[in-house]
Amino acid sequence: MALDQFGRTIRYLRISLTDHCNLRCVYCMPEDMTFRPNAELLQDDEILTLMELFARLGFDKYRLTGGEPTVRAHVVDLVRNMKQIPGVRSLSMTTNGVLLKKLAGPLKEAGLERVNVSLDTLDPERFRRVTRWGSLEQVWEGILEAERVGLTPIKINAVVVNGYNDGDLVDLARLTCQYPWQVRFIEMMPFGGATELQLRQVVSTADMLRTLTEHLGPLELIDNGRLDGEARLYRIPGAAGTLGFISSVTMPFCAACTRARLTADGRLRLCLLRDNEVDLLTPLRQGATIEDLRQIILDAIWSKPWGHGLARGEFATNRTMSEIGG
Ligand code: SAM
Ligand code: SF4
Repeated sequence: MALDQFGRTIRYLRISLTDHCNLRCVYCMPEDMTFRPNAELLQDDEILTLMELFARLGFDKYRLTGGEPTVRAHVVDLVRNMKQIPGVRSLSMTTNGVLLKKLAGPLKEAGLERVNVSLDTLDPERFRRVTRWGSLEQVWEGILEAERVGLTPIKINAVVVNGYNDGDLVDLARLTCQYPWQVRFIEMMPFGGATELQLRQVVSTADMLRTLTEHLGPLELIDNGRLDGEARLYRIPGAAGTLGFISSVTMPFCAACTRARLTADGRLRLCLLRDNEVDLLTPLRQGATIEDLRQIILDAIWSKPWGHGLARGEFATNRTMSEIGG
């Protein structure tokens, strides 16, 4: 079991399959982003070796992310091999949905269980402004295909940014009246220097809830506000789906954190919003034994920081969200 110094059991690993992406969302990376050469990224066999090790340490929940995980070559075969590792109880993916129309079926067949799809607006023009390169129609078709093949329950991730999509909350929330999806509104996390977006463009959960109740009436709090993963859930009365609020900036959930992140270049990142990382790729390539690697991982997890300091104006500075694996 992997324990940290504060008594938290860490069992959830988010694996970034690549830092590359086929979009350029304004809150995530600059338009002229440069990516790492393939040789600097974990290769398939290296990911599988590390995953087996994490599984033996009690990690049972895995999410594939990036960058855009679906642009990784052979992603379907990789998922199939991951799913065969004993102890991998839950395997899901966060994706921008661009390639889902084609890949949802094969990914489901390979053993992927569900997807979270990023969708910040239902307006094609604003979608393009937020993602810089994206087509709303393509992503929408991808979401419907994911639902059709059973990558469910579908969760939609919307990062809310003042001046971009803060006017889209109500339309996005109304999706849950028709579809049994969880539409999750995420407070934007400002990343030091990586994007031009600022702390003042963060829309707080409290402001989002105010806007939604003004337009839709009172929302029902689900499960007395107990967190579902990182989201607090509500429902529009009578709706098929639910609304989730991820309040990383204004109400951090660090005390309940059970996660660590494996970056595409093989670093174990201990907190999304702190720069602390431990290199696993170098020892792996230098021939470290499984026992050595196990000890490096256990020591790293033990040193996991308590939480982030966004509220005090402390920002992670060494990587963009796409490089960490959000
Ligand atoms: N490319 C995939 C996608 O967009 O879903 C997976 C990687 S992306 C980095 C993972 C999640 O992080 C997405 O839901 C995205 O909206 C979110 N994200 C990216 N930058 C963010 C930021 N600055 N603050 C909060 N969430 C962010
Ligand atoms: Fe790419 Fe996802 Fe970042 Fe958008 S949020 S640029 S889709 S990695």
